[in-house]
Amino acid sequence: MTLQQSQPQVDETKRRKAEAALRQVESLMQEIRRREESLHPSGPGQEHRVWTGIVRYVNADLSIDAKAYPNLLTVLYELTPGPELTEFRLSELGKNDDFFYLSELSGARKRDLISLASHYQKALKNLLLWLCQPKSHPEIRLEALKFLEVNAHGEDWRIDYNEDPIASLGDFDEDKGPFLYFVKEVRFASIMTPVCKFIFKYVDDPPKRLPIRICKRLGCDKLMLPERIGRKEYCSPKCCALDHRPAHKENKDYMWLYRLSKIKSGGTLRRRLKGDPDAMKRLRQIETRWKDEPKFTEKTKEIRARVRI
Ligand SMILES: [Zn+2]
Repeated sequence: MTLQQSQPQVDETKRRKAEAALRQVESLMQEIRRREESLHPSGPGQEHRVWTGIVRYVNADLSIDAKAYPNLLTVLYELTPGPELTEFRLSELGKNDDFFYLSELSGARKRDLISLASHYQKALKNLLLWLCQPKSHPEIRLEALKFLEVNAHGEDWRIDYNEDPIASLGDFDEDKGPFLYFVKEVRFASIMTPVCKFIFKYVDDPPKRLPIRICKRLGCDKLMLPERIGRKEYCSPKCCALDHRPAHKENKDYMWLYRLSKIKSGGTLRRRLKGDPDAMKRLRQIETRWKDEPKFTEKTKEIRARVRI
């Protein structure tokens, strides 16, 4: 869904929010145009700023969150060293061989930014989801890797031989060297090229864990960027509270027991429990927590009897 579309089934409040967001995009973009000069990537904190921007973009509800667009554009500026010499190909919207510069996205081609942001949000989220939890999401592995590979590959650059910055310097001290040897022109296959190049470089050499975490509440899937690794488990106090509701705990405990009881082989079940102190601890916790609930006590008794522990 994009800002342009207001589907009939979207309720009135949401539509009003979307319209307000669209008006807000304009003023946010003006702000970006004012800051354009200072948006070039520079110095310390760049990596953190990029991750923060990526997380905000991926988490945003694009139909009502106007800030998501300038936010994405800021990430692109951070990742594009020479924005005035870098063209982006626009092939996603059926306009093959159309090119634009980043500066156009905050002005004449704002609509393209809006369309591209919603075009790529899901695929980028899946890539990050898989990189954070590859074991939990084997089903998106191939799709995520292809997205990463295709986009990270999408850089094409050439040196413009007609431009000679050394000649135009005139008289300079050769021992100190020129500050510019040549003019490099870059073409990115899409706005995801600099983003995927950044992610690829981060995880490839040397391979390291992303600074991003996924909210622990099942089905939330929001990304987080904890200030310190291992501190934050939930994206919001709301998710934390939802996950600790008694009913939720009960469901989780019951599912855990149920899955154990479905293990057909006694040997496997025994190894699953006896080989894992955490599993034994959890079994005992469940027995204490639900000692007055027959649906739990029956299952735990049955499991213990099967593995004779
Ligand atoms: Zn959450």
